[in-house]
Amino acid sequence: MSIFLTPIFTAVRQAAALCQLVQQKYIVADQQSSIAEKLDAEPVTLADYGSQALICRAISQTFPDDGVIAEEGAQQFRELILEPHQQEVAQLIGTILQTSVTVEDVITWLDYGQNRDEKRQWVIDPIDGTKGFIALRNYAIAIGLLNQGKPVAGVMGTPGYAAIDGGAIFYAQDSKVYRESLKGGTAQAIVPSQRTDPASLIFVESVEKSHASHDTMAEVREMAGMESAQVHRLDSQEKYCLVACGDADVYLRLPRSGSTYQHRIWDHAAGVAIVEAAGGIVSDVDGSVLDFSQGSTLARNKGMVVANPLIHSKLVEATSKINF
Ligand code: AMP
Ligand code: MG
Repeated sequence: MSIFLTPIFTAVRQAAALCQLVQQKYIVADQQSSIAEKLDAEPVTLADYGSQALICRAISQTFPDDGVIAEEGAQQFRELILEPHQQEVAQLIGTILQTSVTVEDVITWLDYGQNRDEKRQWVIDPIDGTKGFIALRNYAIAIGLLNQGKPVAGVMGTPGYAAIDGGAIFYAQDSKVYRESLKGGTAQAIVPSQRTDPASLIFVESVEKSHASHDTMAEVREMAGMESAQVHRLDSQEKYCLVACGDADVYLRLPRSGSTYQHRIWDHAAGVAIVEAAGGIVSDVDGSVLDFSQGSTLARNKGMVVANPLIHSKLVEATSKINF
């Protein structure tokens, strides 16, 4: 593992441990009090804040001059999370780090590095797929690094990754991608599949109907002559990792007709870095690269087509004919 990413890697493991603690203590025990709703009606949990604080703490210690663009923030933590739960987040982080942590520490870490005009920006989704996390399905702890608006490195923890007991951690840097057990062990280099036979293909897509149009994705499979492919639905950016390592061949994320939703960069930065470094291809529905230089959203792109390099163009041929 590169020395450069090691502190981030450690923080992702710590964040995954914290998420699992919150899941056992609150979610499995059905204590809905640990879940709040943000202004855009997206759910947020104590674990989202704990995870982001741990990751930003690592960035503040190791890359103090870099900028950060992250999904959560201190103001919402103060406003949405009850005081005893704020204390609980500090305590959970303290348990993981084996040191004493205050609510003020958490608040400082949560906003670390934000609104800085630096060419290197860490893009953080502390829990991607919060709906999956709450429903005990898949979720990801996703950290991408942008250099002058381009995703150049990524680390993603995927505690629900099915092929490795205890989940996996994927990381990309310098055109190489590795996967290892979240519990520790040896890293394995990964590459996308080279499958092209429609009957052997595996597509992955969102579980949530409101996040992508299941019907349009079925239509595209038909247009591309790939209707005999299998389709698996799972939450979070883990879908990018599945294409990067060849467990799946295609990840489609196609907007529902008339949708004006702008994708958030933290939902894609780590995933794009991982797929591209592995040799897979990522584009929007027109075949253009995703433009991460437009602030916190992918304002210039519609949807995502992520695939192994042998079939990507065939899919874009289909998606570019659809009027989204
Ligand atoms: P997934 O689990 O792949 O469906 O993606 C989860 C992410 O979808 C969340 O982090 C949200 O930021 C994002 N999301 C929320 N609403 C929408 C929407 N209408 N269209 C696309 N993505 C959305
Ligand atoms: Mg997300």
